[in-house]
Amino acid sequence: MRRVIVECTRGGRYSTIWLPFGSLKAIRLGRTRIQYCPIHRRFERVRKVDPRSLSRRARRRAQALRDLPIP
Ligand SMILES: [Zn+2]
Repeated sequence: MRRVIVECTRGGRYSTIWLPFGSLKAIRLGRTRIQYCPIHRRFERVRKVDPRSLSRRARRRAQALRDLPIP
């Protein structure tokens, strides 16, 4: 399944499954949503990040960090 890179309110970046029509594990709030952050281990608001705005190194690191495989 396709994953996107997201950034939480504390600046942690990781990849997650972002479905266009809602999600089982997240509360949608427009362009952001609240879900469990695997870096800070708490529920946080996250927003999608344009991968082109990241350096290759930052992008790889974010893609390697994944949250739960449940959409
Ligand atoms: Zn976080």
